Amino acid sequence: MTATVIDGKAIAAALVAGIAKTVERLVLTQRLTPGLAVVLIGDNPASTVYVRNKVKQCELAGLRSQLHHLPADVREDDVINLVRGLNGRDDVHGILVQLPLPPQVRAAAVIETIDPAKDVDGFHVVNVGRLFGGLPGALVPCTPQGCLHLIFSVRRDLSGLAAVVIGRSSIVGKPMAQLLLDENCTVTIAHSRSADLPAICRGADLLIAAVGRPQMVRQDWIKPGAIVIDVGINRVADGRGGSRLVGDVDFAAALTVASAITPVPGGVGPMTVALLLRNTLIAACRQRGIDEPEV
Ligand code: NAD
Repeated sequence: MTATVIDGKAIAAALVAGIAKTVERLVLTQRLTPGLAVVLIGDNPASTVYVRNKVKQCELAGLRSQLHHLPADVREDDVINLVRGLNGRDDVHGILVQLPLPPQVRAAAVIETIDPAKDVDGFHVVNVGRLFGGLPGALVPCTPQGCLHLIFSVRRDLSGLAAVVIGRSSIVGKPMAQLLLDENCTVTIAHSRSADLPAICRGADLLIAAVGRPQMVRQDWIKPGAIVIDVGINRVADGRGGSRLVGDVDFAAALTVASAITPVPGGVGPMTVALLLRNTLIAACRQRGIDEPEV
């Protein structure tokens, strides 16, 4: 068997194109330009690249973006005051504080300051509560939403499937598990203390790896015909003095046993940014009392 490679880049581009069309219509008919404020603290190279990409994608889709770049030694109070100011601005519909934060700034304190209606990362306790409580109106974390889109590109009805999510973080693993539960999967969350992880994975019709360990998931962990979504982003030596990105799954080996698999790069990563734009669009419509667009 050779698995279908799920082209996250193309699927994300199609989604962004749809968002761009909707934004164009909103600007014309409602005089509404969705706006995203991104707060970046310090000079973490990965965060800088992610933020640059988010801002660029906003511009491509016609959203307004603003970057607030604060020094690494900024005081927590100053970050909180900035977020309070952004909460009050009519031209800012989404607020994203790029993680990780320096040690003197508590992520929980900053995230809880964001107006839940503008919390486009979906990390605020109100949005977490809505998602896990099955209540309407949640802004759902972008990466797991993106994974679900990718799964839907190869299979629409997930009802009854055995899904295994490796990783229990609040930003990927847990919300991913909840979204799959909402799709009527039988969900197992595996983690660093799980006993016999390979055996757990072998039971999965749908395997989501969100760990951060290069190529941890081996060929014989994968049930023949499974759909495999690789969230991991790991930089490893390329053997020629440089480096390259790999996922949490041994991609080349998995290709021979899975029915569909996402590559790294070009799988989940581009979807995360596309869903951020979509969350910002949705947040803007809700704040204006406009029906949510179908994108
Ligand atoms: P995290 O460090 O918060 O969580 C990792 C999880 O993996 C933990 O729950 C831990 O229990 C589990 N784990 C660690 N070692 C394990 C092992 N040996 N066996 C089983 N489980 C183990 O990480 P995160 O923020 O959830 O991110 C996970 C990965 O996904 C990282 O590589 C990150 O870079 C990537 N990521 C990608 C995107 C994207 O847009 N593509 C977005 C977010 C995170």
